[in-house]
Amino acid sequence: MPAKPKVALYWCASCGGCEESVVDLAEDILFVIENVDIVYWPVAMDFKKHDVVAMKDGSISACLVNGAIRTSEQEEMAKLLRQKSKLLIAYGSCAHTGGIPSLSNQFSREQILKYVYEECPSVDNPQKARPQVRLVENGRETTIPAFRNVVRALDQVVDVDYYIPGCPPTPKLLKQALLAILSGQLPEKGTVLAPDVALCEECPRKDSKPIDLAFTEFKRPHQILIDPEKCLLAQGIICMGPATRGGCEALCTKGNMPCTGCFGPTSRVRDQGAKILASICSNIAAKDDEGIQKTLEGIPDPVGTFYRYGLAQSLLRRRVDLGAEPTTEAR
Ligand code: SF4
Ligand code: SF4
Repeated sequence: MPAKPKVALYWCASCGGCEESVVDLAEDILFVIENVDIVYWPVAMDFKKHDVVAMKDGSISACLVNGAIRTSEQEEMAKLLRQKSKLLIAYGSCAHTGGIPSLSNQFSREQILKYVYEECPSVDNPQKARPQVRLVENGRETTIPAFRNVVRALDQVVDVDYYIPGCPPTPKLLKQALLAILSGQLPEKGTVLAPDVALCEECPRKDSKPIDLAFTEFKRPHQILIDPEKCLLAQGIICMGPATRGGCEALCTKGNMPCTGCFGPTSRVRDQGAKILASICSNIAAKDDEGIQKTLEGIPDPVGTFYRYGLAQSLLRRRVDLGAEPTTEAR
């Protein structure tokens, strides 16, 4: 009997949702177990880093990495798994575009550490102690991973073969990707393994999406009773659908919630946030500064709204920290 393809799964700066999405395969997980050998999956099985180090280069058929890259350990593991894998797949928004962790690129490393270890209301740390990468105490040395200056998407650290989008990806997309890997029928390297159309195309509300919009105010979902049939943008709720790749089966808009953009842009859009921002701003009804300002007050967190999942891969990318020492990771 021929050897089964070897598959690895790993998580970096991740909430664990992408790991859970693998379990969401439900009975299809049996198909996975029958057809592949899982050789590394720290969240579910007791493998250690030295097990990966001992593997031959390129011996893992496909490695799915979820989570963004923030620490030195995540960077090291991404490089190690790249070396050991024929195919490296960015699994989920955080690995694909930086995801929610990359919203922290609005703040400098120092701002983050100061808040977490000194200023956060729930912190009691009168000595203002902070974790040290290396500590020697009573002759014993302890090391922890270094906290890098910025959060990066996986392909900003290593070469990536394919992307499976979503926060988290749906079981259907994961199954399709696994079938493509097993059959060897994969598209061109660098492809996002989801339909290359905007979400509006698969949204059941698309027939009520106006051709011309004239926004007079914006509302957040908890502020109004949402019409379950009508396009959300037509109701003054920011919906990222026009600038977001489809393939999620419109789970959020079917659930009466707007799309927040987790599938990232289509291949024709360079910057997802700028795309929707340009469209929304050009459709504000008011023409005077005061009226425009008042309308925009309905979007209290523009970065979190338009770049919720993609700040690391956007044109803005990160806050420039003028006080920081230049380092190789601060690219
Ligand atoms: S993509 Fe979403 S579900 Fe996956 S690790 Fe990131 S935040 Fe969690
Ligand atoms: S609700 Fe959102 S995804 Fe659906 S048609 Fe309107 S803008 Fe597009």
